Amino acid sequence: MGLSASVDFDRRHIWHPYTSMTDPLPAYPVESASGVRIRLSNGRELIDGMSSWWCAIHGYNHPEMNEAARAQLEKTAHVMFGGLTHEPAIKLARTLIDITPDGLRHVFFSDSGSVSVEVAIKMAIQYWGATGHPEKHRLLTIRGGYHGDTFGAMSVCDPVTGMHERFRRVLPQQIFVERPVSKVGEALSSEDARRIETALTDHHHELAAVVLEPVVQGAGGMWFYSPEYLARAAELCAELDVLLIADEIATGFGRTGRLFACEHAQVDPDIMCLGKALTGGYMGLAATLTNARVANGISADGGVLMHGPTFMANPLACAIARKSIELLQDGPWTSRVSVIEHQLRRELGALREHPAVSDIRVFGAIGVVQTRRPVPVAEMQRIFVEQGVWIRPFNDLIYLMPPYVICAEDLTRLTSAIGAGLDIL
Ligand SMILES: *Cc1c(COP(=O)(O)O)cnc(C)c1O
Repeated sequence: MGLSASVDFDRRHIWHPYTSMTDPLPAYPVESASGVRIRLSNGRELIDGMSSWWCAIHGYNHPEMNEAARAQLEKTAHVMFGGLTHEPAIKLARTLIDITPDGLRHVFFSDSGSVSVEVAIKMAIQYWGATGHPEKHRLLTIRGGYHGDTFGAMSVCDPVTGMHERFRRVLPQQIFVERPVSKVGEALSSEDARRIETALTDHHHELAAVVLEPVVQGAGGMWFYSPEYLARAAELCAELDVLLIADEIATGFGRTGRLFACEHAQVDPDIMCLGKALTGGYMGLAATLTNARVANGISADGGVLMHGPTFMANPLACAIARKSIELLQDGPWTSRVSVIEHQLRRELGALREHPAVSDIRVFGAIGVVQTRRPVPVAEMQRIFVEQGVWIRPFNDLIYLMPPYVICAEDLTRLTSAIGAGLDIL
């Protein structure tokens, strides 16, 4: 099949994320990717500004990651995890327990972020059920969040920008607090404090857990809020006996300048979800970690955690994840993220006065340009591809979260392309 026939087949038969089958957005065929460059089938090279949705922190086609994959492939790509175990899972679990906040020491492996959120929700609900409080089964979260596309996860996504309207009749009803107005770098406002205090005081008796993305709300709108808000929410959870679930699927592994965003507020969650950059973007893998209290509570009186995906703790993915974390730990990621942050502040900051721009936000290796009107995605992407960059806007957001290995020149190409793209708005 020729290239255009293949692309035509793709358009007609294969769903892409959040697209129509009859009128899809264009999809560009990729030949290969290496370092921070994605090579299209027509030979054009694009500098990657997305890390394939937060994942490819070391860049693509990394020789050491490839070697880790090959070495594990020689042993086994997969065995079931029911009744069997293996070194890749054991070593990865040890590493995760070691690097995450103190109390977390029990690990559940699954194959995607959304599933790890489902597992976190099950852990919380099962914990209260097993400890004599079945009435504590609801969740509280903040607006503007994103936690995945499965039903439990969807129920705590933002009710407006999320998918609540379409699935209204079948989604569990959760409790939403306004998105914090206190920005990262600011103190906790009295308004934010009052809102979260009131909501938790009113509902704690029916709450299994508070679920939130620490400090950075990703796909729900790319908002960065004050770590003091996170600290206050954690304090209230402890006082009122509600579990805290930290969804670090986007923020984990250094993106915000700390290994985990919880560290900005020295918060020890009861449950933490990891995914995305866990395998450095090589494969689907996620983990839900919890503390002894929750693990022992669920297991009291012979209780078992009711989940067990087919590809649980896939050895290939675990081996790759461990290598990715090793690369991170052995490399200068903190200075890389800080250098990227400074450059994004300088170069995106210069676009602040552009008439199409309503806000510029930078935190860690994440840069966000919010526009006054929604971005025409297909048209904007065509411009970006012509400029030799890969940036995928959504709604009124054009944002960058490049691989940590990107050099200054390539990052400037990304920010200049955004400048050029804004001119069509
Ligand atoms: C992407 C994301 C998820 C869902 O992960 P998938 O692997 O896409 O299922 C959940 N929570 C957050 C914060 C995310 O960014």
